[in-house]
Amino acid sequence: MNFNQITPHVITTAPKTINELTGTDPSETVALTCINLPEALIIVDCGADTEKAKKFRYIMEEHFNKEISHLLLTHAHWDHSDALNVFQDVSVVISKKGATKIKADIKVAESFTIGSKRNEVFFQVSEGHSPDSAFVLYPSDKVLITGDNLLSCYAQVFSNGKIVLDLYRHWESLDVKHIIPGHGFVVDKDYLMNVRAYFEDLISVLKKLESLGLTINQVLKHPDLPEYCYKDHALWEEGGRRHTGWVNSGIKYWYRHV
Ligand SMILES: [Zn+2]
Ligand SMILES: [Zn+2]
Repeated sequence: MNFNQITPHVITTAPKTINELTGTDPSETVALTCINLPEALIIVDCGADTEKAKKFRYIMEEHFNKEISHLLLTHAHWDHSDALNVFQDVSVVISKKGATKIKADIKVAESFTIGSKRNEVFFQVSEGHSPDSAFVLYPSDKVLITGDNLLSCYAQVFSNGKIVLDLYRHWESLDVKHIIPGHGFVVDKDYLMNVRAYFEDLISVLKKLESLGLTINQVLKHPDLPEYCYKDHALWEEGGRRHTGWVNSGIKYWYRHV
């Protein structure tokens, strides 16, 4: 497990570079993050591996010399939340839609703030990747934790593309420096802007192809399609594993929605 201290108050299992990532399965690449506030010690996402979650919790409590007070869940997908049993004694926060999928004593919130003025952590439901998705923002350290609304070791996967694009534009307007995606390594605002620009290029090409009346199979092979900007970054072989095929899923999604 990586322990990447990105600011004095924030440690994440997401490494600095793709070369430091181990494993390709979603349960191995999911980011667990700890934020230390004077009055709270927060974990964002607990992952699916109970042993890994226990170890992360233990090491963070030792490192910051206090007990975990909150677990914020970006969404209820198994790879982010299955190790919830490790955090039965802390205050768990998730979206209302996410809470319906999780059996636990949970605090339901569409937005939630921890900490005192100028040193707060914000939990905000956004939807996009899934209807229950939320993100976490820690402005004083310029840290954004995106959940699966942004991925850096896979292509993007979403249930509502329009919400995701609006969210990218919103995040770009924030003063953030360290972006921790749902899976992969820590990225910066350039990464976010490149992914957003890829989708905008894709949509404009798809609009033209749609006006020509092409079928989706013709579209997928069309030479005018932009290449996904981080194709070479990915751990996956396109179509080779159950969590791949997402570049084409995105194209199909937008072709239905342009
Ligand atoms: Zn995930
Ligand atoms: Zn997910």
